[in-house]
Amino acid sequence: MADRPLILVTNDDGIHARGLQALIDALEPLGDLWVVAPEVNQTAVGRAISINRALRAHPLGNRRFAVDGTPTDCVYLGVCELLPRAPDLVASGINRGNNLADDVFYSGTVGAAIEGCAMGIPSFAVSLEYNGDDAFAGRLASHLAAEILERGLPRGTLLNMNVPCQAAPDWRVRVAPLGKRDYRRAVERREDPRGRLYYWLGSKPISYVPIEGSDCDVVARGDVSLTALRPEITAHDSLTHLKTWRMASLTQSSL
Ligand code: MN
Repeated sequence: MADRPLILVTNDDGIHARGLQALIDALEPLGDLWVVAPEVNQTAVGRAISINRALRAHPLGNRRFAVDGTPTDCVYLGVCELLPRAPDLVASGINRGNNLADDVFYSGTVGAAIEGCAMGIPSFAVSLEYNGDDAFAGRLASHLAAEILERGLPRGTLLNMNVPCQAAPDWRVRVAPLGKRDYRRAVERREDPRGRLYYWLGSKPISYVPIEGSDCDVVARGDVSLTALRPEITAHDSLTHLKTWRMASLTQSSL
């Protein structure tokens, strides 16, 4: 590592988001920051990558770029092209709204951190409940970033931190597993001004299954949740059984 760590900062709410600026302000003392963020809001794009169109990176001054793509595009392009070398840390956030439990599969904020992790770079995502205090989340992110820079992270592992909007007076950071979301899976069906039908997904406020000690539970109690994630999702315990399926013994002659 060079004398000053190189930190790539990104998000999914877009380059103009308040949470991004809060993260920049918080991490500034820790190293040389490079900001590569989507030009517009990319919430809930997961780890989508743009491989079938041109990508533009608009320089916005000192070590700052707005990319007309996804958070994953930003990390990919940042690491492989825009930064002078691979960063020592990828920091994604501060997202407006928590990314808890199953949210991590939809989240662009977490998607960016997964991309960083996949590139072998210590990475974390930080999200703040609606109407929360960006500066508070920023201070937490700064502590987390400093410790990651000091300790590193196991290869293939990233961290996901969630901050409540109203921290309990005696709040703690609780290391917690992912919980379970209850998305209620509502669909709004309406007519557009031209008389054509359209649908809107996720129109109802989401909830969670009360599992004690889960990340959802921790944040609901006014504590900060910290979760280690591993994008390697093979269900190893099912592979042995799967080998007994007829499908697994199909050959050319059985078709
Ligand atoms: Mn977002």
